[in-house]
Amino acid sequence: MHHIFRTISLLIFSQSVYGWGFFAHQRINRLAVFTLPPDMLVLYKPNLEYLTTHATDADKRRYIIAEEGPRHYIDIDHYGRPPFPELPRSWQEAVIRYTADTLNRYGILPWYIGQMVLRLTKAFRDGDADKIMKLSADIGHYVGDAHVPLHACSNHNGQLTGQEGIHGLWESRIPELMADKSFRYWAGKAHYIKDISTSTWQIVLESAMAADTVLRQEKILSDAYPSGRKFAHERRNGKLVRNYATTYVENYHSVLGGMVERRMRAAISATASYWYTAWVNAGMPVLNRLKAGRITDPPVQPATAPMIGRQEE
Ligand SMILES: [Zn+2]
Repeated sequence: MHHIFRTISLLIFSQSVYGWGFFAHQRINRLAVFTLPPDMLVLYKPNLEYLTTHATDADKRRYIIAEEGPRHYIDIDHYGRPPFPELPRSWQEAVIRYTADTLNRYGILPWYIGQMVLRLTKAFRDGDADKIMKLSADIGHYVGDAHVPLHACSNHNGQLTGQEGIHGLWESRIPELMADKSFRYWAGKAHYIKDISTSTWQIVLESAMAADTVLRQEKILSDAYPSGRKFAHERRNGKLVRNYATTYVENYHSVLGGMVERRMRAAISATASYWYTAWVNAGMPVLNRLKAGRITDPPVQPATAPMIGRQEE
C-alpha cells in the first residue's frame, strides 16, 4: 500500500523530489557567477553552462549513493526549539553528543557545506579546475537547499499535517511560475565570509524558523480555497499531470510576502560568497590559465530506481 501511494504521489508531484527543483537550482548557480569579481569570472564565466546543468547533480546522486540523502536537509526540530542551543555546531561535538548514526538520520546539511568549502579551498590551492567546477556546482546546490525552510524541518512535505505536496509547491512551483517574471535576483557582489560555520548555521536557523509560516499559511489558504480550484491538470511530456493551479500558486506566493524570492536571492548571494571565500582562503590564486576539461561531461543521470532514504514527495 505504501509503495502504491508513493508511486501515485510521484506522478502527481514529480518535481518535488529535487531540492529547489531543477529550475531554481540552475538559476541560483548561474546567477551566482555574475556577482563574482573579475579575477574569478575568468574561470567561472567560460564554465557557466557547466555550473548550470550540473546544479542538480547532487540530487541525482541521491538515487545512486545512500550517503547522499542526508546531505540535503536537517530535521533540526528533532533537537529541540529555536535556536537549538543543545545542538553543537561542530561536527565532532555533535557526534559525541548524538552519535553519527543519529546525525545522519536527521540530516547533516550544515556540517556538509563546511566540508565542501574546505574541499573547494584545496582545489583552488591545487589549481585543479575540474574539481573547482564540480565542487562549486555542488556547493551552489547545498547552499540553495539550506535556504529552503522545508529542508530544515521534519514535516518536510507537510506529511504530518495533511499538506502533501507543499515541498514542491514552495520550491518548484512558485519559482517556475513567478521567478523570471517578477523576482529581483540581484543580491550585490560576492563578499568574504569570516566564519563559514556560523554563517551556514545562521542560514539554516532562518530556514527552520520560516518553516512554521510556510506550513501555516498554506493550511489557511487551502482551508479557505474553493474545492476543485486548488489543482489543475496540465500536459507534461505527453502525460496529464495534476499540479497546483496557477492562481493557487500566485495566492500562496502573495500570502508568504515574497519569502521565496528573498530566500532565492539570499541563496544566490551566499553561493557566490562561499565560492569567493574558498578562493580567498586559498590565497587568491591566479585563475586565468586554468581550464576545466569536464565541461562537456554529461550531467549525472539518475537511475529509474526509487530514491534511497528519505523521500521528498
Ligand atoms: Zn538537494
